[in-house]
Amino acid sequence: MAIGRAVILASARLDVAHYFVDPGTEEAEIERLRAARRAVRAELDTLKAELPHDAPAEMAAFIDVHKMLLDDRQMAQDTIAWIRQRRYNAEWALTAQLDVISRNFEEMDDAYLRERIADVEQVVERVLRALRGSAGLARSASGNGDLVLIAHDIAPADMLQFKTGVFKGFVTDVGGKTSHTAIVARSLDIPAVVGARSAGSLIRQDDLVIIDGDSGLLIVDPSPVILDDYRLRQQESQLARERLKRLKFTPARTLNAEPVELLANIEQPEDCAPALEAGAAGVGLFRTEFLFMNRNGNLPGEDEQFEAYRRVVQAMQGKPVTIRTIDIGSDKPLDAEDYRDGDFTHLNPALGLRAIRYSLSDPAMFRIQLRALLRAAALGPLKILIPMVAHASEIRQTFSELDKSRAELAAQGVPFGPVEVGAMIEVPGAALALPLFLRHFEFLSVGTNDLVQYTLAIDRADESVSNLYDPMHPAVLNLLAQIIAQTRAAAAWKGRPVDISVCGEMAGDPALTRLLLGMGLRSFSMHPAQILSVKQEVLRADPDKLAPLVQTVLQAYEPEEQQAALAALG
Ligand code: PEP
Ligand code: MG
Repeated sequence: MAIGRAVILASARLDVAHYFVDPGTEEAEIERLRAARRAVRAELDTLKAELPHDAPAEMAAFIDVHKMLLDDRQMAQDTIAWIRQRRYNAEWALTAQLDVISRNFEEMDDAYLRERIADVEQVVERVLRALRGSAGLARSASGNGDLVLIAHDIAPADMLQFKTGVFKGFVTDVGGKTSHTAIVARSLDIPAVVGARSAGSLIRQDDLVIIDGDSGLLIVDPSPVILDDYRLRQQESQLARERLKRLKFTPARTLNAEPVELLANIEQPEDCAPALEAGAAGVGLFRTEFLFMNRNGNLPGEDEQFEAYRRVVQAMQGKPVTIRTIDIGSDKPLDAEDYRDGDFTHLNPALGLRAIRYSLSDPAMFRIQLRALLRAAALGPLKILIPMVAHASEIRQTFSELDKSRAELAAQGVPFGPVEVGAMIEVPGAALALPLFLRHFEFLSVGTNDLVQYTLAIDRADESVSNLYDPMHPAVLNLLAQIIAQTRAAAAWKGRPVDISVCGEMAGDPALTRLLLGMGLRSFSMHPAQILSVKQEVLRADPDKLAPLVQTVLQAYEPEEQQAALAALG
């Protein structure tokens, strides 16, 4: 839950720094802004003076319009007000004011005038550029009250800014509950509502907003009674979290003393600290694609990747670490310049060149990652996880690239360690041909986020169909139960057990813990913030009693029937 004042952000502006300036430095920050405006004015004067003689007359007029906009009261004075009253840094103040002005333009009846917002944007862009040349002032840890961000969309990679940022929560117009933006928000423990459709256009700068992420509720301008109620709920939920912390050192065992492995999903090396803090038994999923995003043409090389993997292996202090090769594509795109052809417009990205398909399309790049992983494996227990694998040919090529990577390291005399190799089971085709994967891989990890998406043909990032994105659909539950049962039974013919874990969002939902335990699952990987809640459920569960009840759930095809069967799980 988060309660705060709305900061509306035009979609592309999260790359602008957002921070509070130190109290007492507001006037210096205003002077920074004024200096940038003076620089832009001089720039525009030069531009006008140097216009070629044969330039059309409108060119000079356009430059004059931009100069007028620069000095416009709404633009100049009101931007200063954000700095003086709220201690926003100049860049933030400028974009906040741009949004206010954009709203005014949007409300104009005249289409020609409405489009003139482009001129304001260009002027703001010039001032932002000028500000980039001047160093910012000292940052302050906090500002005047809590803020929540309202945006049309936020890229998953931009979410990482929230860790050190000023916002207490966010709302986006687009996105689904298991879109990567939402997943990263959850793992960072940031209250969020995604897919709120028109929130971005209905909420105004500075409105008071309550974000209730658990229920997917957004309340704008709450009455005092509602506000008090939510403040109370916020305190209660904080207390409940404090109580849960006592479970950190309690071994995760069911009532009949079966151990259950609770692992962490991470997006970057820094996430190991909260994972350990929550008592994670290891890392079950390191989504390495985040190392590759927001790189502006500068993808990480072998040494930089090795450094990231080394940090994770060493931070986890001997606990097992599962690192997934990049799952680029779909809603986790690279920057345009980082694609080989510079143009990455696929018709259907979720079904296109994604994950292992992308890696195998550029074997040299894939081997850079594999070599970095093999090198890190010399420093501690490391497993490699392959995303979206579905075909025997992909399995063969993956192992062949691994062999080549080992040979390359050996030829250079670079030390590397042993790795177990596992497959994500997240394409229904892989789930239905499981023996192929059981034969070749040492462990499996079920990506329920994609398994739901592909089983039900629902784009997980599309809010217009998010009501149909249903992990409880009987097809999904039966497929999942089948994967778990077949993997457990594989020990008999394979001669040794194949480990199986679930690393999709279902694993971190305490409401589903009993169901998954009853299916036979004993390894769960989730965002660190959920580990203790899931542990609490594990401690109260008796899988022997749950197993027959889960069979009834699996045979319930009507929603009401399923509800009743689920209620019996307790
Ligand atoms: C999944 O699909 O469930 C999964 C864990 O991978 P991602 O969410 O990164 O696609
Ligand atoms: Mg996936």
